[in-house]
Amino acid sequence: MSIFQNARFYTTVNHMKDLPATRAEVAFVGRSNAGKSSAINTLANRTRLAYVSKTPGRTQHINFFELGDECFLVDLPGYGYAEVPEAVRAHWVELLGRYLQTRQSLIGLLLIMDARHPLKELDRRMLEFFRVAGRPVHILLSKADKMSRQEQNKVLALVKRELADYPSVSVQMFSSLKKTGVEEVEQVVKGWFDA
Ligand code: GDP
Repeated sequence: MSIFQNARFYTTVNHMKDLPATRAEVAFVGRSNAGKSSAINTLANRTRLAYVSKTPGRTQHINFFELGDECFLVDLPGYGYAEVPEAVRAHWVELLGRYLQTRQSLIGLLLIMDARHPLKELDRRMLEFFRVAGRPVHILLSKADKMSRQEQNKVLALVKRELADYPSVSVQMFSSLKKTGVEEVEQVVKGWFDA
């Protein structure tokens, strides 16, 4: 059985200072609307484990899901939602930065990007923040169902080329709608937790 299928809601926190005591954790980040909540639900095989937002960018909660007694999956707030005031957006980028740079228990990062709009400025900022941690990043290029096979190959090659100098990065296509790419993510995350 997939490691994600045992995911259970653990807690929600509104401030970084309230993060729960450390277990090994893997976090999901992405621009608002990239498909992060859908991806979490698809991986956990639940319709509503993560909340697919009707008002993207409004919720700035950090949701923790537990996998057994020793691991967490962390759903971080989406960034870049245009209708949130600039000051609020900037504040969240700063908090995400602090989390990505300092959280010792964060063993790997899943970065979700809409395959049609990869590597926006804030995505690159997240990668730069996390670079100092020296831990692996796995990129899900989401909504793959909206692309032809040829377009998918093109965007995969582009992202790999752009991140050639980033230490420890891997990239795959993913679709919550078609449930494609699920096993590949499971293998990667399992590898991180087992290491
Ligand atoms: P989040 O803001 O990153 O959590 O994004 P959501 O998971 O809420 O998804 C944003 C929008 O993209 C919603 O309308 C979803 O239905 C849609 N979406 C998410 N994943 C997919 C996918 O794999 N394929 C397609 N076609 N649409 C998707």
